[in-house]
Amino acid sequence: AEYVVIACGVWSPRIAEMAGANIPLTPAVHQMADVGPIDILQQSNAEVAYPIIRDMDTFCYERQTAGSMEVGSYAHRPIFMHPNDIPSNEESALSPTELPLTQDDFDPQMEQAIELMEMLGDAEIKYAINGLLSLTPDAMPVLGETPEVKNLWSAAAVWIKEGPGIAQLVAEWMTYGYPHLCDPHSSDISRFYPHEKTEHHIYARCAEHFNKTYGIVHPREQWASQRNMRRSPFYAREEALGATFFDARGWERPQWFASNAKLMDKFKDACQPREHEWDARWWSPISNAEHLQMRESVGMVDLTAFNEFDFTGPGALGFLQYMCVNNVDVKVGGSVYTPLLTPGGGFRGDLTIMRLGEQHFRVITGAFDGGRDKYWFTRHMPTDGSVTFTDMSSSLCTIGVWGPNAEKTMAKATQNIDAEGKLVAYDVSQANFPYGSVREVLIDGVPCWMFRISYVGENGWEVYTKMEHGLRLWDSIAEAGKEFGIIPVGMGVYAVTGRIEKGYRLMGAELESEYNPVEAGLARPKVKSADFIGKAEYLKARDEKPAAIMCTLEVLDHTSKSGIKRFPTGGNEPILTKDGERIVDAKGRVSRVTTAGAAPSLGKYLLLAYLTPEHAVEGNELRVMYMNELFPVRVARVGSQPLFDPTDARMKS
Ligand SMILES: Cc1cc2nc3c(=O)[nH]c(=O)nc-3n(C[C@H](O)[C@H](O)[C@H](O)COP(=O)(O)OP(=O)(O)OC[C@H]3O[C@@H](n4cnc5c(N)ncnc54)[C@H](O)[C@@H]3O)c2cc1C
Repeated sequence: AEYVVIACGVWSPRIAEMAGANIPLTPAVHQMADVGPIDILQQSNAEVAYPIIRDMDTFCYERQTAGSMEVGSYAHRPIFMHPNDIPSNEESALSPTELPLTQDDFDPQMEQAIELMEMLGDAEIKYAINGLLSLTPDAMPVLGETPEVKNLWSAAAVWIKEGPGIAQLVAEWMTYGYPHLCDPHSSDISRFYPHEKTEHHIYARCAEHFNKTYGIVHPREQWASQRNMRRSPFYAREEALGATFFDARGWERPQWFASNAKLMDKFKDACQPREHEWDARWWSPISNAEHLQMRESVGMVDLTAFNEFDFTGPGALGFLQYMCVNNVDVKVGGSVYTPLLTPGGGFRGDLTIMRLGEQHFRVITGAFDGGRDKYWFTRHMPTDGSVTFTDMSSSLCTIGVWGPNAEKTMAKATQNIDAEGKLVAYDVSQANFPYGSVREVLIDGVPCWMFRISYVGENGWEVYTKMEHGLRLWDSIAEAGKEFGIIPVGMGVYAVTGRIEKGYRLMGAELESEYNPVEAGLARPKVKSADFIGKAEYLKARDEKPAAIMCTLEVLDHTSKSGIKRFPTGGNEPILTKDGERIVDAKGRVSRVTTAGAAPSLGKYLLLAYLTPEHAVEGNELRVMYMNELFPVRVARVGSQPLFDPTDARMKS
């Protein structure tokens, strides 16, 4: 067959392995008992007359099936079985995925079910099993073409309830090059990094999340298992500075630093604790202090989790032109920020490319999209040898240096060899080193690429060097910045407060395949002449009135009915009209919060959301629904112009 789809449930890893591919899932036990007959259910004379009950306190469900009740549990200990150990039909008393119940694991759950529904106590257990279902390391399905084997597809780790939708999604993906139904990025098989496909990782993460199947999971929830898988060369310094680390696909990234706690006195008003435990969970007011100090002096940010992909060779330019919306044919030492589109014209990626040589380009992309972007680029690469791909991600580390004192810091730290071969201070002024350019420099003798760019709205650079030079680079920049008030700054600023003040969009949040660059406010005035994936649809979108527009909203009043101030976490909260009506655009897409966060420099709390043209009017008052309450919000900005420093003067002059 030309195409093969592995839709073999818990057997999928075995089938994939036969072809040299990896479908990272483990068969896991889910216990279920069929209890009955029960009079009241029999009298209903229906397969299902009563709604299913999910008991979120005991992690159990009770579901009518004709005259009896199925009791299922996600409360028992995680029990895994290796795919190779699933018994054959002949070896199985029932079927290979209906294993004998381990009674001790189920007894406490049955007691709790009886406590909830007395009638269960009087009935018999007709049938009880250790059923097998598929668990994956992040509890999401595994869909798409396997990165290892062309035309071998996975449709695994799928529940019955989502089966028909996923069948459509995978069929569309195979037919059109990307699904139309919705963006599959969270289920995409190419999302996994190599360490996430090991049995070690699969078992550890599945053991951790199994009992959260019915758990209440925070949008910022952090994994406890499989930590310290990937650490930057700066880790020891960050640990000494009291970093609270968040996991970014195995990377330990500082979210904020205890060493900056003292700044909270200085910025008292902006650093008030959040009253509600849920809003304060996985968050610290230190982030706001770091933000304000960075905007006043200079901060250094560990960006080592970035992925760097080098494309070289005579075909590199033509290939990247075909992959990217914006013109990649910039001067050597220049860069381009560009979306990648699906054939349907929606977002497939969002990244930056530096041109390091006539035939040498470096793609920079984030930790959460590295695997998917690598697959997308390499899958489309010409096979005639004209382009060479090198994954530099494990070779390079990165420090962001940003703030009004970044230039002074880097002027002190940066040197270069002049035309006469002498080591001289390097001119890092905007005149010699403008925004968007990349230069090879020496910092304390360490060869680096300095890239003048910012995701936080401040003058400064991303500084790249080889991993082994990283610690020296960190120490050199910290030392140079000492007299200018340099502080370490965490992801709480980089990814949330700094970003949201500038309205910068994030792949996977604002940018998904359901939306296009016109709607996201990322369409440039001109379209390049070269062809690229999604061009026809992009041109069409430019001629049409957008059905939705990305907007920045400010929360006008945080006070809940209980009097406690609440702070939406950015977990898809609905944006509603003043009357509490849903906002649905002409394409059926619902307005919801894609990112939420404090904007300490503006004294506001901001939300990003797509709104219909009717509602996308600056000053328009709407509501955000959070914890079943409505809070007033106002449209502060329509489109991509930032609320903070709208002309980008801080970054570019
Ligand atoms: C006790 C229990 C209760 C559940 N309750 C629910 C529920 O309420 N709602 C819900 O949505 N989900 C529920 N699930 C999960 C659900 O059963 C699975 O997610 C679903 O069956 C997976 O469907 P699938 O088609 O991917 O795999 P399967 O249903 O396992 O089908 C895979 C098929 O592939 C076949 N196969 C294997 N190897 C090969 C091969 N080499 N060649 C050809 N065919 C092969 C197998 O024989 C099998 O028929 C429950 C699971 C259990 C164990």
